Amino acid sequence: MASPFYKVRCKDCGNHQIVFSKASMVVNCQICGAVLAEPTGGKAKIKGEIVEELSHAERTT
Ligand SMILES: [Zn+2]
Repeated sequence: MASPFYKVRCKDCGNHQIVFSKASMVVNCQICGAVLAEPTGGKAKIKGEIVEELSHAERTT
């Protein structure tokens, strides 16, 4: 079973952000606004670098 969340590293600013693997909207970096994930109708297309797969969302900062 695939992990429902990814920890994605923004390629532009290095920010780490939790992204839902089936995000239904574009996910932007909270720091610089770069696109981290795009919806595809199913699994989101991750545009950043996946550094970790998570079974549940973590609270970061
Ligand atoms: Zn960024």
